[in-house]
Amino acid sequence: MERRDIPKQKINKYAIRKSLRLFGLMPASDRWLLALGTLFLAITAGTALLFPDLLGRMVDAYTDVNKLQESAMAFLYLFIAQALFSFLRIGLYVRVAENLTAVLRNRLYKAVLLQNMDFFHQNRTGDLLSRFTADIGQIQDTFTSNLAMFLRQLMVILGGIVYLFFTSNTLSLYMLGTVPVVVIISLFFGRFIRKIGRQVQELTGNNSVIAEETFTGIQNVKAFTNEDYEMRRYGRDVEQLRKKSIFRGLMRGAFSSFIIVCLFGSIVWLIFLGLGMVRSGEMALGELISFMFFTGFIGGSIGGMAEQFVQIQKTLGAVERVLDLIEKPTERLNGHAGAPEVIAGSVAFDNVSFSYPGRPDYPVLENINLSVEAGKSLAIVGPSGAGKSTVINLLYRFYEPDQGQILLGGKPISDLDLYTLRSQLALVPQEILLFGGSIYENIQYGNPEAGKEAVIQAAKMANAHDFISAFPEGYETIVGDRGIKLSGGQRQRIAIARAMLRNPQLLILDEATSSLDTESEQQVQSALKTLMKDRTSIVIAHRLSTIRHADTIVVLKQGKIIEQGSHEMLMNMEDGYYRKMVERQQDHTDFINHHENP
Ligand code: ATP
Repeated sequence: MERRDIPKQKINKYAIRKSLRLFGLMPASDRWLLALGTLFLAITAGTALLFPDLLGRMVDAYTDVNKLQESAMAFLYLFIAQALFSFLRIGLYVRVAENLTAVLRNRLYKAVLLQNMDFFHQNRTGDLLSRFTADIGQIQDTFTSNLAMFLRQLMVILGGIVYLFFTSNTLSLYMLGTVPVVVIISLFFGRFIRKIGRQVQELTGNNSVIAEETFTGIQNVKAFTNEDYEMRRYGRDVEQLRKKSIFRGLMRGAFSSFIIVCLFGSIVWLIFLGLGMVRSGEMALGELISFMFFTGFIGGSIGGMAEQFVQIQKTLGAVERVLDLIEKPTERLNGHAGAPEVIAGSVAFDNVSFSYPGRPDYPVLENINLSVEAGKSLAIVGPSGAGKSTVINLLYRFYEPDQGQILLGGKPISDLDLYTLRSQLALVPQEILLFGGSIYENIQYGNPEAGKEAVIQAAKMANAHDFISAFPEGYETIVGDRGIKLSGGQRQRIAIARAMLRNPQLLILDEATSSLDTESEQQVQSALKTLMKDRTSIVIAHRLSTIRHADTIVVLKQGKIIEQGSHEMLMNMEDGYYRKMVERQQDHTDFINHHENP
């Protein structure tokens, strides 16, 4: 979402009260700085108001050289004071705004990071990112400038009006009856013209989309001999665009005529009336000049305030969205006070049933019972969508089961703190995410406290040390979007090294679907073997050949366990589902081998 697309928020008690909470996020010292900044702002508004007054006095003093010099000096002091206080005001506001922005960014990042997985499924990444860019940017702008400008314009309007009434009541009433009215009408007029402008832009966009579609799909157009049809379609659109653009032009013309007649007209009318008063001695010429300058200031400030008002409305919406997220309850993650306790690696699912919160009527797992002893391996197989990854999601407590419980080392995982629970696990996922950083950092991600020795040791055990050392920059080689691209097998071995470094009780392998060439496959398999040694492991298997030696194989189909046992046991079952799967994959592999090596 770009900044200009931020929706406006109606100003009401609730929105204002919510936004005032922002001040609560500031340290007390910043609130004082803001108050001081606002005092300086009032001083600059005051000095701005002195300007027309001094100008008027200077005009009235034009016959007296001494007085003229005095006025000129007064201007000099005025500008110096204005420059100084304006600089101080900006300095203070910027400081407070940037401190607040930093607090908001950190709090928001933490709040989002600590949400549960369901939150991330319900919210699109783009929407979340726009909280950081568009919404926080909007708040930042408001505290840096919009708020100050709004207050300053308000002060200028109020102060200006008071001054005008001191100069001449009659003329002030005439002024207030004309200039603000004209300014407000022109604001609405301007907004209307902008709306038409946007419509013209949309139509222009449409127009190029039609041309683009036709040219890219030219083969279809010609094959269906639809040139005439396309020309008519384009022509209709061009006609609409032509009419709208003419309308916009006329409205712009009307706008400038309105400004000339009404705004300039009312100013000249005021000068005319004022000069009458000067002639009759009711007012000095200098006073009239001050008066007209004030009129200009007030008119300009009314126009400016409207824009600031829109910005502030947008900010109220932004604040609400950001604070809603910041105040949203997070996952229960107690954080790491010291090393987490180590829990034995046996796993059991006790009659677990589950549906995703987004689809509560659709049972994804039904009455799942399974167990793995510490140090043993369990493989889960089954067709796509059977619920294999869901078993892992529950084990990590990304979601809570609707029924039944899951035990780790004999303890219900619902009783464990999430940090303790997840510290026992390491995942080698299907899609390996390498962060933009060095290979070293990517391995160390498994255990940020590990030192260099440990990282290299893990890489060696994962068969990754040799290929890493072969890069000119070794472990410092940058990977990810801005770095070099690693092959599938290399990425897997990095992921294995990462898991190795974590040294988990329970290892979870979500096997990659795409097969590697024989050489790297063999390296990955031998690394996995080292990793799995003496650890409990749960493997989600796509290629059945790799799990033949698992202690237990569970066959999952449509959320239910339909077969369970060792490879040999399952192969001995006449008409067994597993046996059929193995045979089918065997045929497939034979087919590929036959065609690749005829
Ligand atoms: P695959 O082998 O294709 O990865 P799988 O056996 O791992 O499949 P799961 O990812 O566990 O299957 O999905 C099981 C079912 O749950 C599917 O029908 C899927 O559409 C559904 N599902 C998965 N994640 C969610 C979610 N976040 N919200 C709603 N339904 C989901």
